[in-house]
Amino acid sequence: MQPIRTFNVTPSLPPRLEPLRQLAYNLHWDWNVDTKDLFRRLDRDLWESSRHNPVLMLGTISQTRLQEVAEDEGFIAQMERAAQQLEDYHHRLTWYHKQRKGVGGKVSGLREEDDSSQSPIQNPKSSLAKVGIVTGTAKTPTERKIQNSECYVYFSMEFGLADCLPIYSGGLGVLAGDHLKSASDLGLPLAGVGLLYQEGYFSQFLNADGWQSEHYPINDFYNMPLHLERHPDGTEIRIEVDYPDRKVYARIWRIQVGTVPLYLLDTNIEANASPYDHDITDRLYGGDIDMRIHQEMMLGIGGVRALTALGLKPTAYHMNEGHAAFLSLERIRVLMQEEGLSYTQASAVVKSSSIFTTHTPVPAGIDLFPPDKMMYYLGDYGDVFGLLREEFLALGRENTGDFTSPFSMAILAIKMATFINGVAQLHGVVSRSMFKSLWPGLPVEEVPITAITNGVHARSCVSPVIQSLYDRYLGPRWERAPVSDPLWERVSSMPDEELWRYHERCRAEMVVFVRDRLAQKLRDRGASPVEIAQASEVLDPGVLTIGFARRFATYKRATLWMRDVDRIKRILLANKGRKVQFVIAGKAHPMDIPGKELIRAINHFIREQGLIRNVVFIPDYDLHVGRLMVAGCDVWLNTPRRPREASGTSGMKASMNGLLNLSVLDGWWDEADYVRTGWPIGHGEDYDNPNYQDEVEANSLYELLEQEVVPLFYNRDNEDIPRGWVSKMKDAIRLNCPFFNTARMVREYGMRAYFPASDRYFKMTAAQYAPAKELADWKNKIFDQWYNIKIENIDVSEGTQILVNQTISVKARIDLALLTPDDLQVELYTGLVNANGDIVKGVPTTMEYQGQDPQSATSIYTSNITYTSSGLQGISLRILPKHEYLSSSYDLGLILWAQ
Ligand SMILES: *Cc1c(COP(=O)(O)O)cnc(C)c1O
Repeated sequence: MQPIRTFNVTPSLPPRLEPLRQLAYNLHWDWNVDTKDLFRRLDRDLWESSRHNPVLMLGTISQTRLQEVAEDEGFIAQMERAAQQLEDYHHRLTWYHKQRKGVGGKVSGLREEDDSSQSPIQNPKSSLAKVGIVTGTAKTPTERKIQNSECYVYFSMEFGLADCLPIYSGGLGVLAGDHLKSASDLGLPLAGVGLLYQEGYFSQFLNADGWQSEHYPINDFYNMPLHLERHPDGTEIRIEVDYPDRKVYARIWRIQVGTVPLYLLDTNIEANASPYDHDITDRLYGGDIDMRIHQEMMLGIGGVRALTALGLKPTAYHMNEGHAAFLSLERIRVLMQEEGLSYTQASAVVKSSSIFTTHTPVPAGIDLFPPDKMMYYLGDYGDVFGLLREEFLALGRENTGDFTSPFSMAILAIKMATFINGVAQLHGVVSRSMFKSLWPGLPVEEVPITAITNGVHARSCVSPVIQSLYDRYLGPRWERAPVSDPLWERVSSMPDEELWRYHERCRAEMVVFVRDRLAQKLRDRGASPVEIAQASEVLDPGVLTIGFARRFATYKRATLWMRDVDRIKRILLANKGRKVQFVIAGKAHPMDIPGKELIRAINHFIREQGLIRNVVFIPDYDLHVGRLMVAGCDVWLNTPRRPREASGTSGMKASMNGLLNLSVLDGWWDEADYVRTGWPIGHGEDYDNPNYQDEVEANSLYELLEQEVVPLFYNRDNEDIPRGWVSKMKDAIRLNCPFFNTARMVREYGMRAYFPASDRYFKMTAAQYAPAKELADWKNKIFDQWYNIKIENIDVSEGTQILVNQTISVKARIDLALLTPDDLQVELYTGLVNANGDIVKGVPTTMEYQGQDPQSATSIYTSNITYTSSGLQGISLRILPKHEYLSSSYDLGLILWAQ
């Protein structure tokens, strides 16, 4: 039955409790312990049953309870403190302001952040400039003040922000959510863009056989911390995206993440006639390939249009994974059709200001679309650009001459971006090699794909108990203090007893939670009373607990620890108080049958081996379960098949809580101090036979458990404190907390990607795009002349025998064709020669232009080099294009080597 009319009913609060509304609608509560505590205090049961959703709570709580707390002075005082903290949060002088003086807009009146920033302080007057793009709960575009002249936008298919917003599926989403939270903490003028899914990511159910089934909860947007974006007259702001034969409309919701707005598109509106179009934003990663293209068009094209409709003028665009890459096509179209630029000019502007982060070390993880589908859905863009079919498709192809190859979203993103990165150092190496053919002739180590190692948002993943300890001993700045900050030295001064007692409290809390959750799930499934009673006896709060929680993709090898049944049983069931227990959680993708089989295998193993008390599988892994586990376990286990785990982040969360990691040297762990802050499984070696690899790594895992982990944990002094263990916990906190932290990560994105991209955007668009036009003309000239350049000859001053520390001089004569010395970078390339006769890891040195050779009309370049070590050394010479508006000499993919 369709309603004849709808009303949006909002909670009615006693006037005194009005601040609760503002607190509920800003996700800042998710990482502010006091505010979260306030909502829990309001109604503990409702807090749990609403999935920690303060908006739903305020809408359903009884008026009696509201009247009660309105007269509770203690509650009111806590509420006012929380409101004050949010107000203060908006008026900080942030890291961003200090970095971008002059670019970052007005800073007068902002208050320096200091060690007391978490405690209530007299507020500055609210007329002062606020941090961020959107202020408070502005309702209309005209109220929406853009404080800063620059604005960065971050596009992602999923965002994992809070328990009550199930619009993420795993690591990629949680990372995106943490990115926004830290951007807010650091004061970046950033906005997120994504899709608002009608059906949340699935809840996981296990049947009696341990087989996963899925249930998709329907998200009720009106009872979530979401604002619908409206015009001043109250009507919804709508955008439209062109699909074959029709337009699809979307409205825009906003989640306020501290000072960062996250805009989410929603196509489930009556303006769309067909049910198919309603479903574009129905499910995250649901549907077939056509649906995926629909979704990615909505994200990329719709996202750009939404920003325009909201009055935002971004100066840097960040594509988090290839899903969002269509945004570049839309930006080029706008620049061509609305600003009158040519295709080359427009793409120069787009490239100058785009950032791409890849998260996938396996080619199968990348979105690929068949050429015909690409043309069917996006061919109009090719027409606007004036490109032929194969020229247009080449934008998404590695080998542009292969007309059968599919269109890759990652390749499109790479071709459109000026800054490209992987998410851990090892992943950077893998990505450079995966995409090296896009820069033919360039040595792999110079492929311009760098790495920014992931992090996690400290206040979101450190348990409140442990946070209070850090606040007390390190001061509240620990959450974002850099590695070099002396406060990290104070970790060692935390009393062992206290850290250990607090940690044991987290373990006990987790055990209580696990028993409740298991009992509840068994009741839901109609299990027998005996089975339900057993749930209250699982796990022992005093036993060494190993945690494993992640998506059940087969490469993560969730069952590696079960490989030798007898050996693992001896470890688990050891006597003399040296037992070990496992807590496991994770979902398999609904279509991933092998992943589901792993879940079933674990549940069978538990029952068949009589390990119901010692090994627990917690159903329905989500942010909430994750937060309890990364604080309540003692060891965090990770056994991916290297190098498939691009980064991994749950181990970082664990480390921040003082857990020790026990992991294969992959992703982030490969670059952590894996000796002092945990244990490495294996040595990062690669065997061709995967079965043998599993064997070696399972053995390494057992050995570490038997010989190092268990003894260290149970080696107690007379106060029952494992001193050696606690000392390792402190190393984990001190060394990993400041680095594997999104505060460090977002600062790095700022300094290395956003600031330069934004500066280039301003430069390129100044004076009616004059620099973009100049760059486009120059590019045409370079492509025209490139193959006419000739390296005529190279003179080396010495023979083939030289001594260490001897200097040799090199003189080259080059025919620059119609180019000038300003257009080119001529480099000497030197390094050791390997057995194949190739220079390996060579070092480029810029050669000096010495003028024209009057006889031959060629240009002369010279350089001196001094050899500081012996061996067979090689010299080569290469030429790259050079222009002040290029972000790097590699941008055009051109390089000419001496033959
Ligand atoms: C942190 C987190 C992840 C990502 O963990 P990985 O170690 O990268 O697999 C996935 N899901 C949830 C709910 C998380 O909190």
